[in-house]
Amino acid sequence: MQFSILTLFPEIIDAYASASIMGRARKNGVIDVQAINIRDFTTDPHKKVDDSPFGGGSGMVLACQPVESAFESLLPLQEPARVLITTPAGRKFDHPFALELSQCKQLVILCGHYEGFDERIMQLIPGIEEVSIGDFVLTGGELPALCMMDAITRLLPGAVQKFSSVEADSFYDGLLDYPHYTRPAEYKGLRAPDVLLSGNHAEIAKWRKAQALQKTKLARPDLLE
Ligand code: SAM
Repeated sequence: MQFSILTLFPEIIDAYASASIMGRARKNGVIDVQAINIRDFTTDPHKKVDDSPFGGGSGMVLACQPVESAFESLLPLQEPARVLITTPAGRKFDHPFALELSQCKQLVILCGHYEGFDERIMQLIPGIEEVSIGDFVLTGGELPALCMMDAITRLLPGAVQKFSSVEADSFYDGLLDYPHYTRPAEYKGLRAPDVLLSGNHAEIAKWRKAQALQKTKLARPDLLE
């Protein structure tokens, strides 16, 4: 999958996307990440990309021209493609949305900063979709873009060594994950559940399913509905 991130801080995207599972997926050709600096596309002689808001008020607004030109530099997109703009006002990103986006060949993500984008961007880029990662406000769209890229990458074949571990994770089957334990079997008087040490795989699977159900019922009853 091709991730194309339009941002004022490409170094943030590059740093995260070069490490750990995303870095490996990049090396193995499962994903490609291009972090494009919106500032490179401004026609302003002083390299300005933003301006003060019409009507007054604090903060700066990302202007249409550099954002539109940066987006146009990507055309034509590799279909099927989706174009997302990060904003607290968007559709909430979650596991079903990540699954949906994992079917794309190219995903373009626009990262805002300051007060956000000039609203006309929504008309200039047809089919653009507003996406939020939660009901809070960050200083920029880079972390939301990285959260989405990371969650989508794990769903792609070849990104995580054992896909069965992705399928066992929270939300994949609609439930939260079951609890995990590792050596030593006892630590400061706290014992790992005996069933996990029994070697009885059928019993272990039964216990894990029951734990996942119980945890979901307690922590996220909405998922069971
Ligand atoms: N004035 C905007 C508002 O109140 O909705 C907030 C702008 S925020 C300081 C700057 C940028 O960070 C946004 O344009 C967006 O790209 C990103 N951002 C902040 N919070 C976000 C969230 N919860 N989900 C997605 N993007 C977010």
